[in-house]
Amino acid sequence: MLERLILFDLDGTLIRSRNGFVAFNDAIKNTFGFSADIRTVVPDGNTDPVILEDIFTTANLNVEITEERWRAFAKNLHESYANAIQQGLTTVSTLPGVLDLVKALAKVKGLYQGVVTGNLEATGRLKLEAAGLGPYLGLGAYGSDSRNRNDLPGIARERWARVIGKSLPVGDCIIVGDTPKDLAAARNSRMRCLLMGTGRYPVEELELLEPDACVSDFTDTKAVVNALLG
Ligand SMILES: [Mg+2]
Repeated sequence: MLERLILFDLDGTLIRSRNGFVAFNDAIKNTFGFSADIRTVVPDGNTDPVILEDIFTTANLNVEITEERWRAFAKNLHESYANAIQQGLTTVSTLPGVLDLVKALAKVKGLYQGVVTGNLEATGRLKLEAAGLGPYLGLGAYGSDSRNRNDLPGIARERWARVIGKSLPVGDCIIVGDTPKDLAAARNSRMRCLLMGTGRYPVEELELLEPDACVSDFTDTKAVVNALLG
């Protein structure tokens, strides 16, 4: 039987958040007691721990992110995100074709779909729920597992091995993302990679990086399923 583990990035690949910066900036204020702005950095493809460090570096703030402060930040970020979504300040929606795609993939026997994302697990799962993807996706690796994105595909594969009852060969695992960093993480783990042009980078630019497959978006469900199973 054909088996595949498909590991989706979230932001720019499956979902888009409107005003997502509100929660991140609130969490900085509530944790560290001063203001800094996520909109001063390019967060695409980075894990949340790296994004936080980048924000402080860009603002010339010499902040020591201790373990304790990090835990407080994670808790505050989750609370701020939940509030912002509840109040409608932040909205999370799926990109075109995503819902049809994950539903189609859920019907394929031997196919497992999970996540590899830089979001912390608590906020990543919140975003999945808000976008209506909670019933389909959740198990995988998150920015709370490692600050280094390249570590995440391997962690996701191990978690899935415990659920499936065996390790799938890395060649049967596919990272789906929207940035060169998703591709780097896939290559580092010797997994295949499908890139899509729905995030910051246009598909023409991503094609030059020679991923295993490249699509402009998910609207052609059949073509994407074929690319993932091929
Ligand atoms: Mg992304």
